[in-house]
Parts: sequence; C-alpha cells; structure tokens
Amino acid sequence: MRIVLLGPPGAGKGTQAAILTDYYKVLHLATGDLLREEVAKASELGLKAKGYMEKGELAPDELVIDMVINKLNSPEAEKGFILDGFPRNVAQAEAFGKRLAEKSINLDNVIYLETSEDIIVKRLTGRRICRACGAVYHVVNIPPKVKGVCDKCGGELYQRKDDTIETIKNRLKVYNQQTAALIDYYKKEDKLFMVSGDVDTRELFTKLQEYFKKQNII
Ligand code: ADP
Ligand code: ZN
Repeated sequence: MRIVLLGPPGAGKGTQAAILTDYYKVLHLATGDLLREEVAKASELGLKAKGYMEKGELAPDELVIDMVINKLNSPEAEKGFILDGFPRNVAQAEAFGKRLAEKSINLDNVIYLETSEDIIVKRLTGRRICRACGAVYHVVNIPPKVKGVCDKCGGELYQRKDDTIETIKNRLKVYNQQTAALIDYYKKEDKLFMVSGDVDTRELFTKLQEYFKKQNII
C-alpha cells in the first residue's frame, strides 16, 4: 500500500490515516506531526518551521522534502506507507515523484477527501489532542469521557495553536492557493480517487476499505 491522502485541513486525513495504518500495518507519515515533534524538541528544523506553522503557512519545501525522503528510506516504510499532509504543493509533488521513480516505486493512489468549509471549521475549532499519546477528540463529535482528559491514557488534552479561527482561515487560503492544484496534478497521472470527507470516520473507513479491496491494494 502506497497512498497519499489529499484534502483541506480538517478533512480527516490524520484520523483516517491512523485507522488505515493500524489496519493495514503500513507506515503513517504525517508531515504535520513530524514537524510538531521537531518544534517540541526545539531542534534546528523545528525552530525553522515553527513560525510558518503558527501562522498557518507552509514550512519551506526543502525542510519538508528531506524529512519525508529520510522516512521513506527507513526500513519502516518498506511494507508501504500512507502520506498525510504531503505533498502540499506542486514542487513537493515533483520532488516526491522523482524520488519514487529513482527507487522504482509506484504510488498506488491519491485519495482526495472532498470536504465542505463549514464542516472543516467546526471540526478544527473543536479539535482537542492528547499531549501524551496523540489521540484526537472533538468537544462535540468525539468528546472524551472526562473533559480535558484522554480516555486512552489519562493524558492532558490540548488545542493546537493553529486551530484558532484566524489561523484556520489562513490554512484554508494556503490550501486553495497551493495544495488544491494537486487535484489536477494527480488526475492527470490517473491516480486520483475522490471521496467525500463530510461523512463520519467509520463510514469513510469502510468506503476506503472497499475501494482498496477492489483495486487490490493491500
Ligand atoms: P492540517 O492538514 O490540519 O493543516 P497538518 O498537521 O498536516 O495540519 O499541518 C500543520 C502545519 O504544518 C501546516 O499548516 C504547515 O505549516 C506545516 N506542514 C505540514 N505538512 C507540510 C508540508 N508538506 N509542507 C509544508 N508545511 C507543512
Ligand atoms: Zn492519550
């Protein structure tokens, strides 16, 4: 399985990628998560990316591309991968495509989660994340049993700095200006599978599972 999940912020890429990678036992490669880890560690890379992330802008391509290529070269990626949050513009898609070609690796599919803007805003403003294990909640849609506490590990739930309304608006703008072009890019490569991201997590998972089965993607 070699898949890219494409879609606006809040489409549910991260949630779906977590369920899919658990089920298919492939690598979940989320550039946003990797960058947040670097920021938390205050590494050189993290310090370079932090300002962009807080404003909802894209981090510089070369930082992100190197990070992804390193991960794809690791043994964990051998069984397959689901990319979540990468590529995010045409330059990244081209660098990624070149790298895959060099390694004679074929990308199976790009799954585009088409999602409406009012749903995105509701999902992102209500999103809460466990500081300890990364589990994702929503104050209305997926509330934890005890407010502010992770059901799975008892960790503290927090709100991402970029999940505020102003930053969400900017992330959507950046998505429309830079990332949406990848829909056509992968349509031309005949790799795009379009599915609604407005449905709930379970329903989307079932749909994708059926699709992968039909396509013989395992
Ligand atoms: P979302 O898809 O909900 O916006 P992510 O966790 O994927 O959230 O990304 C958060 C932030 O991390 C982005 O706004 C951007 O600053 C940075 N980022 C993540 N992936 C990339 C990427 N491929 N290229 C550049 N910046 C990225
Ligand atoms: Zn937790």
